[in-house]
Amino acid sequence: MSGKPSASSAGDNQSCPLTDVNLFLIDTALQEAIKREGGQSAVPQLTAFGSVCGSAEALEHGRSANDNPPILRTFDPMGRRLDRVEFHPSWHWLMSASADEGLHFGAWAHLDGETPRRPGANVERAGSFYMAAQMEAGHCCPVTMTNAAIPVIAKSEKLAAEWLPKITRRQYDQRFLPLSKKSAATIGMGMTERQGGTDVRAGTTMAVPDGESGPGQAYRLTGHKWFMSAPMCDAFLVLAQASGGLSCFLVPRFRPDDTVNALHFQRLKDKLGNRSNASSEVEFVEAHGVLVGEEGRGVATIIEMVTHTRLDCAVASAALMRRAVAEALHHTRQRQAFGRSLDGFPIMAGVLADLVLEVEAATALSFRLARSFDRASDGRAAAWRRLMTPVTKYWVCKVASSVIAEAMECMGGNGYVEEGGMPRLYREAPVNSIWEGSGNVMAMDVLRVLEKEPDAVETVLDDLTAAAGGDTHLKAALQRVRTMLHEPRLIEMRARALLEGLALTAAGCIIRAHAPQAVGDAFIAARLSGVPRFTYGQGLEWSDTKAILRRALPA
Ligand SMILES: Cc1cc2nc3c(=O)[nH]c(=O)nc-3n(C[C@H](O)[C@H](O)[C@H](O)COP(=O)(O)OP(=O)(O)OC[C@H]3O[C@@H](n4cnc5c(N)ncnc54)[C@H](O)[C@@H]3O)c2cc1C
Repeated sequence: MSGKPSASSAGDNQSCPLTDVNLFLIDTALQEAIKREGGQSAVPQLTAFGSVCGSAEALEHGRSANDNPPILRTFDPMGRRLDRVEFHPSWHWLMSASADEGLHFGAWAHLDGETPRRPGANVERAGSFYMAAQMEAGHCCPVTMTNAAIPVIAKSEKLAAEWLPKITRRQYDQRFLPLSKKSAATIGMGMTERQGGTDVRAGTTMAVPDGESGPGQAYRLTGHKWFMSAPMCDAFLVLAQASGGLSCFLVPRFRPDDTVNALHFQRLKDKLGNRSNASSEVEFVEAHGVLVGEEGRGVATIIEMVTHTRLDCAVASAALMRRAVAEALHHTRQRQAFGRSLDGFPIMAGVLADLVLEVEAATALSFRLARSFDRASDGRAAAWRRLMTPVTKYWVCKVASSVIAEAMECMGGNGYVEEGGMPRLYREAPVNSIWEGSGNVMAMDVLRVLEKEPDAVETVLDDLTAAAGGDTHLKAALQRVRTMLHEPRLIEMRARALLEGLALTAAGCIIRAHAPQAVGDAFIAARLSGVPRFTYGQGLEWSDTKAILRRALPA
């Protein structure tokens, strides 16, 4: 690791860049999570990818892909429609790096019929995704959508035969060509319309059969999507109203006769962050689409995709936090004030340790969730996946912004300056808590589980009770959660408190059982002992902050 000041920086009291580091090897919490949750066999591969993602070259591509956002080319010089989006070469470099790693299909490699199913596939992929998001988060959007679309496409034998061989390939093909002429493909998603994003049933895009109706049949789609990211994907899973109700369609960029499909891009969004990625407004003008699942079952069909993207939102948010906190640790170790390094001051050590605890929790929850995706046939894991997907997505994505803001402050003025990279992390963070179901939507989803699947809640609470063992604070935290569950009239107003309580208690249980004692003690003292706190750096006066910081970033 280039943690030693370089010749040019020695003596100027500035830290050296945190580049050319192996993002896997410098991250003890990540390594432990991978091994604990079933991804042990991927350690050599993760070690190799960690070196790619932490390289100066990769981070420079991340910078330039964001400094040179995509451009929409709507028409050619003669006024003919083009509807193409041009990306900077660095975007393509990042996409290739993640595709070589198989991140756009990692959990489904076995669908090729030859590759054996890997029992820890989701955990392994989450490990790589965690590092890819630290390298550059914007390109993770098409990567995650492609991976998540696979179980939906797999529902149709015909579409699976056509698309999956091109998706489950460790390749990236940026060319705008019909599928038959491409070596690899990516998939996007179009649900959100102007009049309703959360309320997708209010969608007005219409679909009429282009002959016979039913699953696998061709339809013509007319309408719009207000957000449709990564528009250069080769196809999109789109919701539209058919005569049987809201339905799911696969809408490719090219029609079966190889002519360009009628997806007319209106604009690209000018976004707070996520600037390397394009998010389009699009109109469908009798666009060709193929029905996936039954008419009227659109939400039920696409929900599998959304469940997978929610996992990735949590993993990516944990990754952004990790990157920001690693930068802060690295800087405060090297930067001196009043004759000693910044991280040697007790107040700063408390703030840094508190941030580290947040990353520990986010990592623990995200990888435990990934494990539950790997064990779908196990009832306990299925209960965890059902309840803890919205809980984890809610809490991890929500805390990312405040963690990154505090990490930025630890770096003083340098933290606020673009070229250091912290502003990009800060701008990127909120999107994960908005898309794929925002905070209140996660809360409502948990309320749905309480109402319709109470057994899943009981199963998770039983697991947590067993894990809490004799720890007084964990037991009390669990009791607070149980009390909330028995306040039926208050439950909607307290839903966010319930999600936060569940997230912190679950994280506390995992950390208590598996992290070093200093980490477990501090996490529980600062978050579960009932002392109110609203900013970071509180509640750790009895904690071994030095041990927490040592573990978080090797010297
Ligand atoms: C950068 C970016 C890229 C995106 N890419 C895509 C894409 O590729 N494909 C796609 O389909 N969408 C995409 N989206 C859209 C995104 O999924 C939606 O913005 C999101 O689902 C929220 O929908 P909305 O914007 O219509 O807000 P609304 O539905 O109007 O919601 C506004 C707020 O109200 C809350 N709310 C809604 N209903 C309730 C309720 N009953 N009770 C309490 N609170 C409620 C929501 O939680 C939210 O906080 C993208 C968004 C962004 C920012």
